[in-house]
Amino acid sequence: MKPLLLHNLNIIDPFGEREFLEHASILIEHETIKFVGRGFSHVGFEGQILDMQGKIAMPGMINAHTHLYSTLALGMPPPKKSPKNFVEHLEEIWWKLDRGLDKASTTASFEAGLMDCIKNGTTTIIDHHASPLFVDGSLDILASVAESFGVNISLCFESSDRNGESNFHEELKENIRAIKKYSSNPHISPRLGLHASFTLSDKSLEMISKQIQEFPDCGIHIHVSEDLADEKEAQARGYRSVIQRLEDFHLLSNQSLIIHGIFMTREDRHILLRHGCKLVHNPTSNANNQVGVLETEIIESLNPGLGTDGMQNNLLKEAKEGTLIRAATDSPPVDYLELLFKNNPDIAVKLFGKLIGHIEEEAQADLVFYDYDPRTDLNADNFRNHLMFGLNLPSDVMTRGIFRMRHREMVDIDESRIRETARKESKRLWTAMNSL
Ligand SMILES: [Zn+2]
Repeated sequence: MKPLLLHNLNIIDPFGEREFLEHASILIEHETIKFVGRGFSHVGFEGQILDMQGKIAMPGMINAHTHLYSTLALGMPPPKKSPKNFVEHLEEIWWKLDRGLDKASTTASFEAGLMDCIKNGTTTIIDHHASPLFVDGSLDILASVAESFGVNISLCFESSDRNGESNFHEELKENIRAIKKYSSNPHISPRLGLHASFTLSDKSLEMISKQIQEFPDCGIHIHVSEDLADEKEAQARGYRSVIQRLEDFHLLSNQSLIIHGIFMTREDRHILLRHGCKLVHNPTSNANNQVGVLETEIIESLNPGLGTDGMQNNLLKEAKEGTLIRAATDSPPVDYLELLFKNNPDIAVKLFGKLIGHIEEEAQADLVFYDYDPRTDLNADNFRNHLMFGLNLPSDVMTRGIFRMRHREMVDIDESRIRETARKESKRLWTAMNSL
């Protein structure tokens, strides 16, 4: 591939080396950014030159926690029995949806979900997958669909006892199989997935613990303390907290992804800091499940990443809505752009072992471009406000130096086939759920 020079760009990388740079160029060689700035000499340059006509360039965004398996939930009928609390919400909705998935509907969820990610400028996805009746090979489908879209994917299967012992064994095996198969792939980061402490027995945690010791570079990815029910269950087993239970089973390391953490104690925070675990905060999901607002003190001490927990694929919207949820609940403000543009790239570096999520030399060339003709001046002092309240959807998306979307159209991807299949599979899935 010839070097590619993108010129006439306005770069916004809110926590990068260059926060705001007008009239700039980006040079890409193979998958990597080699130059960012003004004054690139075209003399003797033999690569391709592309005039980006003053578009805004931002780093491809990272979703630090989501569930692509829930893509076909959009618009599904309400549950037969109205859930009254968090656990009933899982039992009546999400655990029926995941058990309704087979190979065809799982594939359709991944395709439609990942296409929506690209359309929203999200190019790195940290996924937590569940399809308990279609386990073997499910992570291979996710890996292959992600590759066809050119996105970076962290994958794992939510192992859980909630569908019986043999199902748990199958799920754990799928995680281990994927870890062995994909650990050396530069665009795939396999993790060991656990659903949550309250759906895993001590015996299952013991088995997971034994397995993960063989893979020191691979951490767990688990929901923790999303609702008080998780903490109460751990306490009923004789542990002080969920985090303390995970520590007792030697499951925490600097590669661990801890999701939610709403009811964590000060001691839990210290345990996470001691092990260097990464917390991920999902404000719209927490609001939707009415489980509470993550304490500012937790955010300030642990620098969590930002995820959407399957609620959406647009991270700028998640940042904006997170800000508004805190305002509406009288919680101290949090800089959600810092979670998105600083903490998420920090997580991606850990998982993928390279610079992702910044527009800098030697970073992977994952870029999103916006046509933006602002109604007020856009400058170095106010661009954050434009990100939250002005920008809409990207016009173009590039990953690894290749355009995946151009002028809002996917490149070499049959969009209408994917949407048509997703609509057909969603109907089949909803019917399957109805009989569970
Ligand atoms: Zn989740």
